[in-house]
Amino acid sequence: MMISILPAIHEAMRERLSAMVDDLRTLVEQESPTDDKELVDRAQTLLAGRLAQAGASVERLPQEQVGDNLRAVWSGGGQRQPVLLLGHIDTVWPAGELARRPVRIEDGYFYGPGAFDMKAGLVIAIHAMEVLRQFNLPLTRDVVLLVNSDEERGSASSRGIIESQARQSDYVLVMEPALGPGMLTVGRKGVGRFRVHVRGRAAHAGREPEKGVSAIAELAQHILYLQSLNDLEKGVTVTVGVVQGGTRPNVVPAEAAAEVDLRVPNRAEEERLVPLIRQLAPYHPQAGVTVEGAVTRPAWEPDPTCVALFHRARVVGEHLDMHLERGCSGGGSDGNFTAILGVPTLDGLGPEGAGAHALDERVALESLPMRAALLAGLLLDLSLNGH
Ligand SMILES: [Zn+2]
Repeated sequence: MMISILPAIHEAMRERLSAMVDDLRTLVEQESPTDDKELVDRAQTLLAGRLAQAGASVERLPQEQVGDNLRAVWSGGGQRQPVLLLGHIDTVWPAGELARRPVRIEDGYFYGPGAFDMKAGLVIAIHAMEVLRQFNLPLTRDVVLLVNSDEERGSASSRGIIESQARQSDYVLVMEPALGPGMLTVGRKGVGRFRVHVRGRAAHAGREPEKGVSAIAELAQHILYLQSLNDLEKGVTVTVGVVQGGTRPNVVPAEAAAEVDLRVPNRAEEERLVPLIRQLAPYHPQAGVTVEGAVTRPAWEPDPTCVALFHRARVVGEHLDMHLERGCSGGGSDGNFTAILGVPTLDGLGPEGAGAHALDERVALESLPMRAALLAGLLLDLSLNGH
């Protein structure tokens, strides 16, 4: 029964393409930078209305510092635990980016800030649920969609909500963009953020330089050390992405700071590298060095339960003429949190395209109905078959 209906679902999705594009345009044209609560809240209001229209009961989870979160439930009845869908409404783009790069459609791609990462993933989830209702397909468990507002800043305020919802769920499906055409994500690197702050001593660069301790010279040595920790073969990257320091050219600088991004493929590398970064010791005896920060998303190493979930998706894909492969991503997502809790997690179910966090960000239009059909089929499979 289930398999025979997949081609019809696929066809219905193709007929929805222009409606999906309209929804995507609406969401992209409401900008939602993580650090602007007012804009994010407005985007959540739009999304909440659309989710209610799609048959969900929507609850708004207020937040004080960042935008509110949404929890939408499509009730399936039954005794089994829900399937949890994860998405985020926030984007990395500042307010005003939309005016610089308005939405446009060109050569089969939809361009616009935040379209690929990941408003198109939200649109895919909405239409998957609508088609299941359109076909009157019974779900035997609830489908819960959680949409947070601070994912691009590490989900500090929403992590607890995500984890407690995941603990009550049998499966987690993450609507982040696809790694590539036909790809689903079954593992992600761990991500850490650190700030190195160096204190030296200011002095006149000409009159009495011997009294100064250059914070910049001190920091420079730490930067070289941090760079030396890179090990591309092992999948370890340490990036000093931001450097600040000094006041004027003729003053020995008293202060300097750097921001560091760490990516690790597994827990063992995390445990090896974090202390090396946290325990930087001064080179100059009179300089002071402090390091703040931690791993914000622990590494998600591919495990058998996630791979098994991938294989179920793959079978659904075969009936939709999609050949699916699995891969691991260098970027973190909220899937890291749920996978390391041991809840089977499949990620990268969102759109295909390119340019996440980049100026050429775009969504491949043909992937919208394809990925929505895949999600609908997978939800049906998880509802009707297995535990
Ligand atoms: Zn994202």
